Amino acid sequence: MFDTGNGSASGGQLQKRLKDLQLSSSDINYLFITHFHFDHIGGMTENDSAAFPNAEVYVPETEYAYWCTQEGDALSQKNMDAYAGRLHRFTLEDTLPMGVIAHDAKGHTPGHTAYEIGQVLIADDFMHGADLQLKHPELCASYDMNREEAIQTRLWVSEYGKSKSLIIAGMHLPGNGLLQE
Ligand SMILES: [Zn+2]
Repeated sequence: MFDTGNGSASGGQLQKRLKDLQLSSSDINYLFITHFHFDHIGGMTENDSAAFPNAEVYVPETEYAYWCTQEGDALSQKNMDAYAGRLHRFTLEDTLPMGVIAHDAKGHTPGHTAYEIGQVLIADDFMHGADLQLKHPELCASYDMNREEAIQTRLWVSEYGKSKSLIIAGMHLPGNGLLQE
């Protein structure tokens, strides 16, 4: 699974969606985190404990280092601590399970990471307003922390996606969250 949404207490739908698929939170064996914004990691905990009892969790080291320091925030630290002993802070050279490939997609946040698995590129928050940004990748959402890097990432996602005929998935893309040529 990639990211967790907000968590039930903040209106997150993930637990309900898992049930709809006849899955339970204990069925998740691997959880990959793209970046540490609340709407991506909020659901890592439910009622202050780990929401996924069997998941090995993979987080980008750069992202961890930024958010889990004095510059960071208490929520990030609390949600990472909930997975002590099975939290894997990886760098881009590391090999990840399930054949997942991590790509540097910084800009939106310092360690924002895209994941490639099979024919899908999970590009997460590379884009927030697809109608506008597909035509104007130079336009940034106010959430993009480094605008220049965010623009470069947007261009990279579309070039790389095209070159490998990947389906691009984004958490803020319209409809089912997929961009398909
Ligand atoms: Zn974000």
